Amino acid sequence: MNKYDVAIVGAGPGGIFSAYELKKLYPELKIVVFEQGHELKKRRCPSPDHCINCSQCAIMSGFGGAGAFSDGKYNITNDFGGNLYEYIGKEQAIELMKYVDDINMSHGGEGTKMFTTAGSRFKKLCMQNKLNLLDASVRHLGTDINYIVLENLYNELCEKGTEFIFDTPVTEVREGFEVVYEGGSVKADRVILSVGRSGSKWMEKVCRDLNIETKSNRVDLGVRVELPAVIFDHLTDELYESKIVYRTEKFEDNVRTFCMNPNGWVVNENTNGIVTVNGHSFEDPNMKTANTNFALLVSKHFSEPFKDSNGYGESIARLSNMLGGGVIVQRFGDLERGRRSTVSRIEESTVRPTLKATPGDLSLVLPKRILDGIIEMIHALDKIAPGTANDDTLLYGVEVKFYNMEVKLDENLCTNIPGLYVIGDGSGVTHSLSHASASGIFVARNCFT
Ligand SMILES: Cc1cc2nc3c(=O)[nH]c(=O)nc-3n(C[C@H](O)[C@H](O)[C@H](O)COP(=O)(O)OP(=O)(O)OC[C@H]3O[C@@H](n4cnc5c(N)ncnc54)[C@H](O)[C@@H]3O)c2cc1C
Repeated sequence: MNKYDVAIVGAGPGGIFSAYELKKLYPELKIVVFEQGHELKKRRCPSPDHCINCSQCAIMSGFGGAGAFSDGKYNITNDFGGNLYEYIGKEQAIELMKYVDDINMSHGGEGTKMFTTAGSRFKKLCMQNKLNLLDASVRHLGTDINYIVLENLYNELCEKGTEFIFDTPVTEVREGFEVVYEGGSVKADRVILSVGRSGSKWMEKVCRDLNIETKSNRVDLGVRVELPAVIFDHLTDELYESKIVYRTEKFEDNVRTFCMNPNGWVVNENTNGIVTVNGHSFEDPNMKTANTNFALLVSKHFSEPFKDSNGYGESIARLSNMLGGGVIVQRFGDLERGRRSTVSRIEESTVRPTLKATPGDLSLVLPKRILDGIIEMIHALDKIAPGTANDDTLLYGVEVKFYNMEVKLDENLCTNIPGLYVIGDGSGVTHSLSHASASGIFVARNCFT
């Protein structure tokens, strides 16, 4: 049986940056990375327009993880994107996110723009309209440059002797440690689990098998909004992404913008066989569209007696898949008039959809409370970006952000089993590229001290 100093499960940003830092600090270490998906150059969605439920989703799995075809927005902030700071402190969390940014810049990202909300005139404008603009700096790599950075990191890791085993899901981790996959197993002194959202079910099983405590996490539910880019360009030109929170008048729920993609594309996302919606955009001017998209999300967290927040989100997403055969699209005007959108209404509308979705009625899918909050927020955003509440604004549903259950970890992101670490989105602690990457660096720096 092969023996390694460190076995990493999952080659998303968490796994990649932990391997990177380990090799930098300890070049002599024998490191293996297991990844259930393909290597980067073999990752290709066979049906980008319509999800065909592949057993292994090429968008979510493979070298680069869920982030490989993302917009590559690295938000440097403790205000959103995860709770890493609760474990390692705010200062260190920011320092590590900046360090990740330096690595990205030295691996193909140089020349990309860093945006910041600091001192922005929009803070006051938002406040005057009951909206709260959160503080952040965001590096926008874009899908194309993000890919180049990943390619460069992969080549460097291979040159330095990191062993990658692709198309190989790890089935079990036994104490000791034995890392088991179909047809074999390896021994390792330390194991770092970085399995992201696509590995959420497997992570739950590992925690059950090894008696690692977990607690339920929240789920975010909502829609993706698509509108002409000019409506938001005064915000996106200056800030690129604005994270704005609105407290609804009716229920006092928080609705927030998420993952803003100027001149971007709306895309399908498949998590454990459930098709939801997401978005991204490219740096390449030839790949830009006339539209901007962003999500509007409401968080729900169930604890007693029902604990399964993700199950709740999954049921709603399944309902939309049942009614629409995938993602549903509806004009805002149709939603407000209480009627479904049809193919002809979408075709006649002034906003050209960038994703082929089924025209339908989101009010048959999303709970009233969530939908009312989203409608209220669209009207609030209309005050700072007039045109947001136009009839032709498109809403795609449902967008769901599943969060893994939170694994009980100590201040070193180590489980109750010494030598077994859990990082990135799979830990429930992070839910962004920058936080997941920073958690990888943190564990690499601390697991041998
Ligand atoms: C379309 C899209 C756009 C996004 N855009 C942004 C953005 O612009 N900015 C941002 O901050 N975040 C974005 N995100 C979220 C971001 O991609 C994730 O937060 C980030 O990738 C988490 O990194 P991770 O390493 O923890 O997990 P992941 O990236 O999910 O990687 C986990 C890896 O582990 C593998 N794996 C799982 N189980 C096993 C197993 N049993 N054995 C072997 N391998 C396994 C998976 O195949 C996967 O490759 C986006 C996500 C999507 C889907």
